[in-house]
Amino acid sequence: MVEKVIIIGSGPSGYTAAIYAVRDGLAPLLIRGSLPGGQLMLTSAVENYPGFTSILGPDLMDDFYKHANNLGCRILDEDVTEVNLRTYPYKILAGKNEYKTYSIIIASGANAKWLGLANETRLLGKGISGCAVCDGVFFKNKDVIVVGGGDSAMEDASYLSRLVKSVTIIHRRKTFRASKIMQDRVLSNPKIKIIWESEIVDIMGKDRISGVKIKNLVTNNEKDMPIDGLFIAIGHSPNTELFKGQLDMDKQGYIKTHDFTSTSKEGVFAAGDVQDTIYKQAVIAAGWGSMAAIDARKFLADKKLI
Ligand code: NAP
Repeated sequence: MVEKVIIIGSGPSGYTAAIYAVRDGLAPLLIRGSLPGGQLMLTSAVENYPGFTSILGPDLMDDFYKHANNLGCRILDEDVTEVNLRTYPYKILAGKNEYKTYSIIIASGANAKWLGLANETRLLGKGISGCAVCDGVFFKNKDVIVVGGGDSAMEDASYLSRLVKSVTIIHRRKTFRASKIMQDRVLSNPKIKIIWESEIVDIMGKDRISGVKIKNLVTNNEKDMPIDGLFIAIGHSPNTELFKGQLDMDKQGYIKTHDFTSTSKEGVFAAGDVQDTIYKQAVIAAGWGSMAAIDARKFLADKKLI
């Protein structure tokens, strides 16, 4: 049997692609991995997804799942371990089974990079966040830290400075790598303070973050700083390992798309954070998922495969 379309990934883009493809009669197979749900599984309240004034990230993803499942989408909870785009139909290995397919929608997402500190995971969503646009509003009139020296850190610090009492950027070197215009915006903002050549070595807090220990990398001196919020902005890694050498990617490993969701291989489409280097928002990922499903249907129809 050859599948018409296999969707890899189960964040907002994967589920939305599945919902569109089922309703289009494509009988998609959604391979959602052994840890389904994507990055929203790690967030607390989501208040910027239209239609939901406030909903917990995992609950929103459960609603996405129920929507796809109720429509009759076939869903496989296995990790994809191999993809072969050198043969056609394409081949996908997931669990113990190999699947053949005429088209693929890659919606495997990206993961925010984290500092890797002991309390970081425990306090995620309890004062620690990887998304200023999503969570900034919960820190009105509070003191927050942003970690990083790239454009994301500059953008997050500038954005947060309009909401919070104070922003402190902690950066490990004495220059930012961010573009000049974004650096200038931060450097001239009186609400933003910068601690150079330093890193966070410990995070304190029982039920919520209460402070951090900061180490000066030049003097090795350490000091504690009380804090209400910690925003980690040290970059994202797209989940594209399976496609390396088979699809065109940028230097950070994001899949390159053209004509909206098309990739460098015919019949292979990419949607959501796996190809989005800028916005990284659930509602946008969902939109990309619907586009990929529509593009896959057009491809299959043009090839007279449906
Ligand atoms: P990035 O450019 O890779 O910067 C990551 C920053 O985090 C760097 O300053 C890096 O320090 C620091 N860092 C990395 N690992 C760290 C660790 N373990 N501990 C402490 N610091 C760490 O990532 P990004 O800022 O997310 O930007 C990614 C891409 O998106 C870039 O091409 C950027 O231009 C683009 N972007 C554009 C916009 C915009 O134009 N509006 C907004 C956001 C992002 P070092 O500098 O020492 O390596």
